[in-house]
Amino acid sequence: LEEEEMVQFVSAARLEGRAPPPVGTRRRQSLQDARRALPIFPFREELLAAVGQHQVLVIEGETGSGKTTQIPQYLHEEGYTRAGMKIGVTQPRRVAAMSVAARVAVEMGTKLGNEVGYSIRFEDCTSERTVLKYMTDGMLLREFLTEPDLASYSVIMVDEAHERTLHTDVLFGLIKDIARFRPQLKVLVASATMDTERFSAFFDHAPVFRIPGRRFPVDIYYTKAPEADYLEACVVSVLQIHVTQPPGDILVFLTGQEEIEACVELLQERCRRLGSRLPELLVLPIYANLPSELQARIFQPTPPGARKVVVATNIAETSVTIDGIVYVLDPGFCKQKSYSARTGMESLVVTPCSRASANQRAGRAGRVAPGKCFRLYTAWAFQHELEETAVPEIQRADLGALVLLLKSLGINDLIHFDFLDPPPHETLVLALEQLYALGALNHLGELTTLGRRMAELPVEPMLAKMILASEQYGCTEEVLTVAAMLSVNNAVFYRPKDKVLHADSARVAFGVPGGDHLVLLNVYNQWVASGHSLQWCYEHFVQARSLRRARDVREQLQGLMERVEIAPSSCGGNLDLVRKAITAGFFYHTARLARGGYRTVKHQQPVFIHPNSALFALQPRWVLYHELVCTSKEFMRQVLEIDSSWLLEVAPHYYQAKELEDGSGRKMPKKAGKSREELG
Ligand code: ADP
Ligand code: MG
Repeated sequence: LEEEEMVQFVSAARLEGRAPPPVGTRRRQSLQDARRALPIFPFREELLAAVGQHQVLVIEGETGSGKTTQIPQYLHEEGYTRAGMKIGVTQPRRVAAMSVAARVAVEMGTKLGNEVGYSIRFEDCTSERTVLKYMTDGMLLREFLTEPDLASYSVIMVDEAHERTLHTDVLFGLIKDIARFRPQLKVLVASATMDTERFSAFFDHAPVFRIPGRRFPVDIYYTKAPEADYLEACVVSVLQIHVTQPPGDILVFLTGQEEIEACVELLQERCRRLGSRLPELLVLPIYANLPSELQARIFQPTPPGARKVVVATNIAETSVTIDGIVYVLDPGFCKQKSYSARTGMESLVVTPCSRASANQRAGRAGRVAPGKCFRLYTAWAFQHELEETAVPEIQRADLGALVLLLKSLGINDLIHFDFLDPPPHETLVLALEQLYALGALNHLGELTTLGRRMAELPVEPMLAKMILASEQYGCTEEVLTVAAMLSVNNAVFYRPKDKVLHADSARVAFGVPGGDHLVLLNVYNQWVASGHSLQWCYEHFVQARSLRRARDVREQLQGLMERVEIAPSSCGGNLDLVRKAITAGFFYHTARLARGGYRTVKHQQPVFIHPNSALFALQPRWVLYHELVCTSKEFMRQVLEIDSSWLLEVAPHYYQAKELEDGSGRKMPKKAGKSREELG
């Protein structure tokens, strides 16, 4: 590395651990020995006694101490799964639910899906025999719809509670409620070393069980000056560590799939260029959409002489533990949902992480030996620019789906629901308004028949409405495909660095008039026509596993359509009907091209078509978008061209003819909130 390429770090505070045990030899232990070596093991009996004594127990323990994988097994061994009762464990993340379930299945010597299983949206890997069920918090929330008192569970463990996801927060309120009339139900709230006092207070001062930490000291280094390009700085720093530091694996925290893939590619390329002058560097990504067989690779031990670098999202912060990490590289960002109640727009935004998060990340370096954490920001920024803790998701998310679910659980008074932290009042009101405009609620705020059917589908209200509207337009087959493809939206096309031109022209060849949704439909139909051919995927630069996943999602949605008694229909080539059905769900997400670019129809927010969109070059006058992603600008992703008259047809409550006039000579309405007030 050239001197000017180097990232310069300054050493600062130490993250001190408590009484580190002597460094263990790295010999292979049997699985049972490994289980006994976990920090939680000495507390097994004490923990079981506490669970026996108290209905609700808050459990606090350092990441990697064994909470997620061991506690459910202890309870199983203790007989909590007798008489067909289950132990449910929630996780905020899909990947974590799958990977810990897989681990526990191995430890218990059973096949995943038998005694130990997992359930995530669109994927149920459980059976009659399943007694330890790992699931996303969102899935448990949906179980309340079919089993309002969770009668088949003897224990519910709300894990990773400190993450404070929207679903976890709502589970707290619901579980607290059912625990009152199910005295035998045991409730465990597990979290990393954060926020436990608050959880205890919320559950009527439930006792806190602390698993003493075992952590080695971690030296913290900051950069001398802010880094303009943190991705590049990451790549350089990894190589720097690899070249200058003693053995030990590296963990890098990035914000999402695209960034991670870019970083992995850059690292592999530089390593190739440096060739045999360097010891081997294994570069392994981990993020939600990564296929599970690739995810499993991060847990495999590093071969002697080589070094592993795991490039991860926040998932590696507390949800999964990778043994052998000695160096942590922390650019200090994460991707967060952000919601503006003023404009009703939700977007994903890359934001600085909190100090609590940064400290958790640093902690990952000190699990097996003294470690080092390199922060790609200054010590000043750490003190002054990072928030102490993150804002809980419930205070920065669109609540439409949640309100619909709670309403269908018969919870009408949302204002007085027992929230750990209440959502902002305006957000709740806006969610109610939105559900009203979608036709899910009547003017009294009660669930309509449509709303009840929408709640049956495990998707966002707008998507649910789109799917249900397809019945009326006679195009359920096409719309189900669009919905399924949207669920894998960013992983359909494959763009290898060395074949960018081929990949791009293959993508253009899928073009059909109308926009991205119809392109996705086209890709799927061609794949089906090819007989689900792998070769076809390869030739067309399409990711086969994404299409297979879309097929699974589609099958599930199709099953649910039968449940709400909708017969299949197809519109043949009349794709306008498909576009209308999509508009019936997403009329909230519309933008109009005027001088100077696109602005959202209702609030005149500037937005841009994502460069990956098929409509990027065409810039049609009226568009609808699936989602907004905020990076350098507010980008609309998955964009569809629409006819403004459709908006009046599908959302007469929401739009007025006046707003949809094209008159290019006329000025835009100045006041954004006006039309909504007029609506009443
Ligand atoms: P906690 O929930 O307290 O953070 P876990 O129960 O997740 O701790 O992890 C305990 C240990 O189990 C980890 O330190 C790791 O060694 C091992 N482990 C967990 N998941 C896996 C996995 N998927 N593959 C291999 N080992 C794992
Ligand atoms: Mg855990």
